[in-house]
Amino acid sequence: MAEYNGYCMKCKEKGREIKDAKVVSMGKGRKAAKGVCAKCGTGMYKILSKEEAAKAA
Ligand SMILES: [Zn+2]
Repeated sequence: MAEYNGYCMKCKEKGREIKDAKVVSMGKGRKAAKGVCAKCGTGMYKILSKEEAAKAA
């Protein structure tokens, strides 16, 4: 499973590791990674770039 980093709303910090990330389809061919902040457990969501989505497939 690939690792993703995103912005945590609660930590107010970029580059936070997304724990237990799952790739979900958003329709229109876009994909997103959904998981929780590795530090505080807040739900995180990151829209994947085409490159990232290709890797996740
Ligand atoms: Zn956090």
